[in-house]
Amino acid sequence: MSLDKIDIVRYSRQMPLLGAIGQIKLLESRVAVVGLGGLGSLVSLYLASLGVGKLLLIDPDKVGVENLNRQILYSTEDVGRPKAKAAAQRISALNPLVDVESYEERITAENADDLLSGTELIVDGLDEWGARLVLDRHAWERGKTLVHGAAESYYGQVTTVRRGKSSCLACIAPRPLPERGCRGIVAPTVGVVASLEVMEALKVITGIGEPSYNKLLVIDSRRPSIDEIPLKLMKCEDCLARLS
Ligand SMILES: [Zn+2]
Repeated sequence: MSLDKIDIVRYSRQMPLLGAIGQIKLLESRVAVVGLGGLGSLVSLYLASLGVGKLLLIDPDKVGVENLNRQILYSTEDVGRPKAKAAAQRISALNPLVDVESYEERITAENADDLLSGTELIVDGLDEWGARLVLDRHAWERGKTLVHGAAESYYGQVTTVRRGKSSCLACIAPRPLPERGCRGIVAPTVGVVASLEVMEALKVITGIGEPSYNKLLVIDSRRPSIDEIPLKLMKCEDCLARLS
């Protein structure tokens, strides 16, 4: 891959920081965003604006009017449309240089390998732990990196997991797994968590900085504060057994 494939003007404000090599690494990256709600909205917009080469967008749901307070990929006229389709259109409008693929499907243990084939980095935009653990297992077994993020009310958390670098996500999953349900959420909290997830992805892709392996970033947007909680490095053989 050479620099003449890159739109230097489009990326001119970030290239002084990322360098030509960083920009080429972005162009060569293939990233999946699973869940196109509040987190997935901002994550996919930022990944596209940064110039990732390929973006895979996965979500089974349709846009609801109650989504619009935080899911900034969509406009009022998208209500009723599949999120995956509306998202792909919006992303292509933002950056036509990104190769976008979208799937209107729920991620499951059965379809994960097919849906996520060809990607090496997965970003969690989900709102429930069952599907997150499916991503965790897929990433773990295939040696991919998973950037995890979750947001609820004024709080959020972010970490990055990869076999050989950190423990798996199942190690920090709440037990029993919480029921899916919304205790309320405001857009700026989602925005902070999603932005930290993109920063993790950017660090993993470019090699610049230090991804948050073995640390959980805990965000309280009311104080405001971001605490860094160290995580113990586990063997994670039992975690995989517990997942099955
Ligand atoms: Zn584990």
